[in-house]
Amino acid sequence: MHEWALAESIVTATVEEARKEKLKTITQVTIYIGELQQIEKEIFLFALTELSKSQKPPIQKDAFVIKTDKSTLSCKNCGEHWKYSDMKKKLNKTEAESIHFIPEIVFVHARCPQCGSPDFEITTGRGVTLSSIKGVR
Ligand SMILES: [Zn+2]
Repeated sequence: MHEWALAESIVTATVEEARKEKLKTITQVTIYIGELQQIEKEIFLFALTELSKSQKPPIQKDAFVIKTDKSTLSCKNCGEHWKYSDMKKKLNKTEAESIHFIPEIVFVHARCPQCGSPDFEITTGRGVTLSSIKGVR
């Protein structure tokens, strides 16, 4: 499951960073998940909590804060930028769901709102970012 692999790399990075900062306890870990990142938040959070057990320094049980990073798309033809959230309103439920599972499907359903070109790219809001770590020294 890729949620577990992602969670593992987040926990590893968190612990490494906390050791560098000489934290005794990790109290808050903020993570951004791109709107167009294929991930099940509940599984991801569960994996994070499970993998946090018996870490040194310890990670508090409710330390993880997961936020959504808005996705932006940009047209390679005319340079127009637009938000995935604006586009999502025009999609039906099945289309929105299929994009959630396979982000590349966005290219099948979307066209540039300015020039109608299907040639665009995802500029922000993809992937998982470890944003900040707070703790007690
Ligand atoms: Zn365009």
